[in-house]
Amino acid sequence: MYNINSFKNIVGNRNIFIFSLNIEGLGTARLLRKHKFKVGGFVDSRDFGYKKRDGFPIIEPDIFFKEHSPEDAFVIIASKNRKMKREFSKTLENHGFKKHRDYVRILEDLCDYMPTIEIVGNCNLRCISCECGHKDAVKTGFMPVNMFRDILEKMTTEIPFLNSVYLYLWGEPLLHPRIDEFIRITKEFGLASDVSTNLNFTKHLEKFVASNPDYIAIPCSGVGKNYEITHTGGNWEVFKKNLFLLRKYIDKYNVESTVRIMFHLYKHNINGDFQYVKNLTSDLGFQFYPIIAHAFPGKIYDHIVHGKPLPPEIEELDNYLIYSIKDQLEFAYEHRNMKCPVWKVFPTIRSDGSVLTCCNMMHYVLHPNYLDVSLSDLNSLREGNEVCKKCIEFGLHRYFDVSCEVRETEKGLEIKRLL
Ligand code: SF4
Ligand code: SF4
Repeated sequence: MYNINSFKNIVGNRNIFIFSLNIEGLGTARLLRKHKFKVGGFVDSRDFGYKKRDGFPIIEPDIFFKEHSPEDAFVIIASKNRKMKREFSKTLENHGFKKHRDYVRILEDLCDYMPTIEIVGNCNLRCISCECGHKDAVKTGFMPVNMFRDILEKMTTEIPFLNSVYLYLWGEPLLHPRIDEFIRITKEFGLASDVSTNLNFTKHLEKFVASNPDYIAIPCSGVGKNYEITHTGGNWEVFKKNLFLLRKYIDKYNVESTVRIMFHLYKHNINGDFQYVKNLTSDLGFQFYPIIAHAFPGKIYDHIVHGKPLPPEIEELDNYLIYSIKDQLEFAYEHRNMKCPVWKVFPTIRSDGSVLTCCNMMHYVLHPNYLDVSLSDLNSLREGNEVCKKCIEFGLHRYFDVSCEVRETEKGLEIKRLL
């Protein structure tokens, strides 16, 4: 891993370009600006509807390679997607760029942490897939703003190239009456942020949008009654109305926030609902990402490892899943030799300051207070801990993989699990 000084040495006087514009890229651009590096912009072929983000230009790859070479440009690959990373590296090498001389990758070379700081630890919904929606949920309430500031202070000192934070875990961030302050403080530290919201509660939505949040994720699991089955306690009409309200506030405050609708694919919503939500997303100018729905893995882990019965909510959910729990467990076990995909999603801090062993499981606490333990001690606690050991032994670390490829055919959707 590079530190700021060793990074300055390899970059020299060159302009830095970031492939591509995502949360890690945006946060890294901000951090580099803070450290007085010259940032040339983002290289990305997607049409975002704007040509600059945070004041940094967005350049087409063809134009970048026409106008720049390793003589004047240094490249950072920000993409997390393995295939994209390979493709970017190959293209760069074909244009004379050499790894560690002319380009590096964020996650491998600059910052291998993707921290989560939960600002609200309870939810207004009780989705049957989610531990937060179950009777034994551990509710941790609202994080105090000062605690958040102290956490970022410590985190940015311990992780020099920290670029971004996710502000949600087991709860609904928009319940926090001071949500806007969290966004502003994150920016003060030069970081990018991502907030996931069920968008069923909008009392603080306007001031949240006015604070110019970087990334907003909105899970959606169908239309009408279908939405309400798995967004249990949610209301489709309210949700839909609030999507338009969000668009209205984004336009009113002229903010650059990227909104993505995460469409949860279930057996009962892959026909009409999928297309309806896709069209709605496009009309609203948001991004659309389909993912495969699974039960969150905490209760599955307790079932497989400790022999506990599955709760009735998960039994019910199983009826709606495209890949049943049994099928997905077999699939995961087949691929148990692969790495844990969420290992880098760490530190995982709940709103009471405690640190979880795993971002996907609510009940396993690694340390009671992030502010009282060094990052290296946290890493030592994590290495070889019993929860992860068992998880990997049973292949459960590959169970909660939601990535997929969706092809729209005349016969309907073709869905393929991706590794
Ligand atoms: S999935 Fe999200 S909205 Fe649903 S209960 Fe869990 S935290 Fe709340
Ligand atoms: S090994 Fe399992 S318990 Fe550990 S971080 Fe990965 S998914 Fe979570």
